[in-house]
Amino acid sequence: MSKKVLVLPGDYIGPEIMAEAVKVLEAVNEQFDLGIELTYGLLGGAAIDAQGVPLPDDTLAMAKEADAILLGAVGGPKWDKVERHLRPEKGLLAIRSELQLFGNLRPAILYPQLADASSLKPELVAGLDLLIVRELTGGIYFGEPRGIRTLENGEREGYNTYKYSESEIRRIGRLAFELARKRDKRVCSVDKSNVLEATVLWREVMEEVAKDYPDVELSHIYVDNAAMQLVMRPKQFDVMVTGNMFGDILSDAAAMLTGSIGMLPSASLDKDGRGMYEPCHGSAPDIAGEGKANPLATILSVAMMLRYTLDSAGAADRIEQAVSKVLDQGLRTPDIYSEGTTLVGTIEMGDAVLAALNA
Ligand code: NAD
Repeated sequence: MSKKVLVLPGDYIGPEIMAEAVKVLEAVNEQFDLGIELTYGLLGGAAIDAQGVPLPDDTLAMAKEADAILLGAVGGPKWDKVERHLRPEKGLLAIRSELQLFGNLRPAILYPQLADASSLKPELVAGLDLLIVRELTGGIYFGEPRGIRTLENGEREGYNTYKYSESEIRRIGRLAFELARKRDKRVCSVDKSNVLEATVLWREVMEEVAKDYPDVELSHIYVDNAAMQLVMRPKQFDVMVTGNMFGDILSDAAAMLTGSIGMLPSASLDKDGRGMYEPCHGSAPDIAGEGKANPLATILSVAMMLRYTLDSAGAADRIEQAVSKVLDQGLRTPDIYSEGTTLVGTIEMGDAVLAALNA
């Protein structure tokens, strides 16, 4: 049976990196006879220019039909002045919530070849392979009531609501445990249960979920300690699971441990494992059109898509090995360049991965 992948190149460097990722996807599609069919749609600024809205109805309809979505990046200065509700990023938030993509997977992997790129000492991060699983559709970012109100004394007060239902916690917990089973079988749940009741429940439900996964070890950590441990001894973690806000902050910190935003893929999954895959970085307007963008985060997003949604772990492994091989060959786009390596552009990097795949 054929599998449908919707490709949304997006804005600025989006189409440049996507062209390379699609080359790689088409190559493994043929090599492994995966039966993947690609369709293309508009999201973000490109959609605003063509249809006046960041998430057009036909894009949403195609997204709902697809097994997986591959996204480049959206946004940029060209659309900074459009009304707030029509901004490119609104298209991204809308597609995530329309498809109920509640589980955000952010691996922080540091290829040993790039250990010098990290702001931490190479021995602390070389070989780092951490997966942060962040709840994406609940918690304080969505909780009601919220707003800014004027109190009786005339002073203004801003307020938000931090809440998680049992089923929301259970759902993200299960996802984390399932993923840990395919890795080192360790889940560390991050909360602030010494202060926040919502996370007292979070911890309780994680304990309950753990009973169904006796082969996976569960530990708990307060978010402040988690931040400290991440920069002190990041290699101690396998899978970290946490709520929306803590995950937002910790996953960016973890990403930076690797020192190379152009290398990091991500996935956002729904309850059936369908998902949207995209690089962690944005549309990099400062380098768009110069052929300098690193396409590897998007290529690695293809690998994640094959592994987590399209049930093709063999093809995913093959892509990851090809990426490792081009790094071994010393090829580097400017963002990961260091002395003694070979500087290449976006297309050359894509071609090198393709060559490694076909070797
Ligand atoms: P950015 O990630 O686009 O860029 C930050 C820095 O990293 C820039 O110097 C850029 O040149 C560099 N960079 C990013 N990706 C790179 C790559 N593949 N290769 C080499 N260098 C790379 O973040 P920003 O500048 O804050 O945001 C630019 C636009 O992207 C904004 O409109 C923002 O809203 C949007 N954005 C979109 C997404 C998304 O689509 N998921 C995520 C973040 C930001």
